[in-house]
Amino acid sequence: MKEFNINSLVRKNILELQPYISFRDHNEFKNPVLLDANESPFGELNRYPDSTQKELKQKLSEIKNISTDQIAVGNGSDELIDLIVKIFCEPKKDSILIMNPSFAMYGFYASINENKVIKLDLNENFEIVKNDFLKISAGFKPKVFFLCSPNNPTGNVIEDVEFYIKNFNGIVVVDEAYIEFSGKKSCTELLEKYPNLIVLQTFSKAWGMAGARVGIAYSSKEIIKLINTVKSPYNVNALSLNKIIETITKQEVTKNNIENTLIEISWLKNEFEAINCVQKVYSTHANFFLIEFENVEKVYKKLLENEILTSKRSPQIPNCIRINVGNREENTQLIKVLKQCKTI
Ligand SMILES: *Cc1c(COP(=O)(O)O)cnc(C)c1O
Repeated sequence: MKEFNINSLVRKNILELQPYISFRDHNEFKNPVLLDANESPFGELNRYPDSTQKELKQKLSEIKNISTDQIAVGNGSDELIDLIVKIFCEPKKDSILIMNPSFAMYGFYASINENKVIKLDLNENFEIVKNDFLKISAGFKPKVFFLCSPNNPTGNVIEDVEFYIKNFNGIVVVDEAYIEFSGKKSCTELLEKYPNLIVLQTFSKAWGMAGARVGIAYSSKEIIKLINTVKSPYNVNALSLNKIIETITKQEVTKNNIENTLIEISWLKNEFEAINCVQKVYSTHANFFLIEFENVEKVYKKLLENEILTSKRSPQIPNCIRINVGNREENTQLIKVLKQCKTI
């Protein structure tokens, strides 16, 4: 176990903060008369949801073999990213470290909290250069490092994640939004060794439940307690909680989602490689492709004219578009339009 005093990294006002405790959620009752929360006694959704998300945590605990007090539930991982920045980063003083290119939301929440965003440029294969990482961390002393693997928008897995956790004097957040597509092991297995590690997962991608807005953080008991202290008490609504609990018991559904996505990935890869205007198909461990085109502006425009929405990454990643893997019908439409691009 790495020696780490988490409290020395936490903002003072957060350390002193008293959590809002919903009395009914923290005690056992057999058949209570609920006159404590000014709810309506009528209606279907009349009661506040469980602020501690007990049942979902219990299910996750069984599936992942992680204790319930090492699990926090957020309104999407986005909320968890926001809370992590707020817990550790003093406004106008502290900074975060992000990979470049990577997911935009880390910088978004840091900017709202008035924290500097330090960018660690990836090399031409979208890998981290270890020496750059060591130099930048020592120089700027960022509080939190957001490490996204598989990375969005590049699609590759970051190798040797343990090196970055071990060699960072702050909190390392490993964002595993796409882990289910990668076939790789989750970093949750490193939790016992590193109390400065937070692993984020989400129901928005492989689970097919982006509309429910539910994300999960796995970490040390100390950090999970801090997240539970700063989160809005009823941050995940009852409809979403129930739906997620229902879905999680049907693991077959997710397995099928992933398998179908992987089939579409290999189908699309072949199709892309046969298309004239495609310069390069980056290999992917996620449910999207990063593709380099000969004339990216024209291709993107052509797709838009056909109401095919993609994510243009150029000029940040020169000549590249990030394209989500759809179902066969959607993918066929995409390929049909791309085939016409040879004439432009
Ligand atoms: C999509 C995505 C998420 C998921 O965010 P939610 O708020 O859970 O929907 C998180 N991280 C990355 C890198 C993503 O691409």
